[in-house]
Amino acid sequence: MNDSMRRAAAILLVILGGVALWWAESGAPASASANDAMVATIAAARERAAANDVRLKPASRFEEGGWIYVHLEGDPGAMGYQHGYLLAPEIEDAFAAVSAGMMHSTERDWEFFRKAAHEMLWPKIDAEYQQELQGIVEGLRARTGSKLDVDDIVAFNAFEELPDYYVPWLNKQQKTAKAPNLKSPGNCSAFVATGSWTKDGLIVMAHNNWTSYRNGERWRIVFDIAPKNGYGILMDGFPGVIASDDDFGINSDGLMVTETTITQFEGWDPDGKAEFVRARKALQYAGSIDEYTNIMLDGNNGGYANDWLLGDRKTGEIAQLELGLKAHKLWRTKDGALAGSNWARDPKVLKEDTPQFDPANKESSPNARRSRWDKLLKENKGKIDVALAEKMLGDHADTAQHKEEANERTLCGHVDGSPRGVKEWDWQPYYPGGAVQGKATDATMAKEMRMMARMGHPCGGDFLAKPFLAAHPEYAWQKPYLRDMKAGPWTEFRSGQAPKE
Ligand SMILES: [Zn+2]
Repeated sequence: MNDSMRRAAAILLVILGGVALWWAESGAPASASANDAMVATIAAARERAAANDVRLKPASRFEEGGWIYVHLEGDPGAMGYQHGYLLAPEIEDAFAAVSAGMMHSTERDWEFFRKAAHEMLWPKIDAEYQQELQGIVEGLRARTGSKLDVDDIVAFNAFEELPDYYVPWLNKQQKTAKAPNLKSPGNCSAFVATGSWTKDGLIVMAHNNWTSYRNGERWRIVFDIAPKNGYGILMDGFPGVIASDDDFGINSDGLMVTETTITQFEGWDPDGKAEFVRARKALQYAGSIDEYTNIMLDGNNGGYANDWLLGDRKTGEIAQLELGLKAHKLWRTKDGALAGSNWARDPKVLKEDTPQFDPANKESSPNARRSRWDKLLKENKGKIDVALAEKMLGDHADTAQHKEEANERTLCGHVDGSPRGVKEWDWQPYYPGGAVQGKATDATMAKEMRMMARMGHPCGGDFLAKPFLAAHPEYAWQKPYLRDMKAGPWTEFRSGQAPKE
């Protein structure tokens, strides 16, 4: 008998034991409630059996400050199993919310996304990430008996690239009649600074994640990853997704990584490699800005096209990788500040990859925030540290109106308060989206694999679903998934952290 057979036999015995015990206690299953009791008993037995799985031994989970911290360790299959098992309830919940959003915006059914995952994405995923994704399915099933399979999980991992990059490209190819107006997302406000710009002369990096509140309220995982191969990773992330995806992470070789998404990006390469795979691989295997750039360019599919803000704490150098599909550009410096708020700046990227984007419109969210970053970073040159970065992420200065007002143009985004919405992303007036959480770190913290994170609006404001839906019935379709998003405290996390006693 091999290991997996032994494990299967052991699980079966426990399940049978559970059934026998139930049978002895309750007699014949004569009613629906008796049947429910049997189902519950079997589920509990399955969970007990899975909890004894040797693959779970190095893994752990605890909650703090509104975040769920999980430690994953080992070979790819084991890390996937730990991920699926430890976050099973959150994955089921996030899958329901995300898949509903993907189908709603694209007017495509779920089978369409499963097929895209299976036929287009899966064959180009590196073997180790295929194993990790399969592991997630196994862990999830062991814990909850979930019906989700690997095609579901791959499509779900690609939720930032399939609906808003692949589908519009496909609609154009197929000349789809009455195709929905799909726009690539414009998520996040971020910066990385170094040299004479920071208080200690070393790198400081900060990011807030902009997304729908529906997804953002669920973007509350801190992943501490100790892979068998590659570098250790500390990153924020989404349940069931193998990349940070919003993105904010550091690795044990000194790389510091974040990004903001390029607004009005157009393009997709069906023969390329999924962005979520390249982004995870780059954070796990790159020890330098050059290595990071090479991994992101290898098989670039144009999906979830970002302006990557990078730092190498070993050299003090920072960089911006503007990763278009047809064009890209890398800027780097050991003395400067690089900010992002969803605008491209390389003339070639602007012309070839974002033909609709207007860099001159001072009233748009990306450009108004660009001008705010510019002013805020210059005003604070030489004083920037993590504490100041946290404040900046909660900034409410609207440069278009020259006043303080939390809206779609402020670094801490509150689009639910804006009668304008963000037309560049097809976010309608009062769209329930904006800054959903924030993170910050510096070179000293990164060396010790530490970072600060705050769940909810980085300014500390709460979003409450019930009064919002009452005031905006046009978003009623989100009701089953839209929840309160209350801000937590700024909380420190580090690799290898144990829960507080
Ligand atoms: Zn705010």
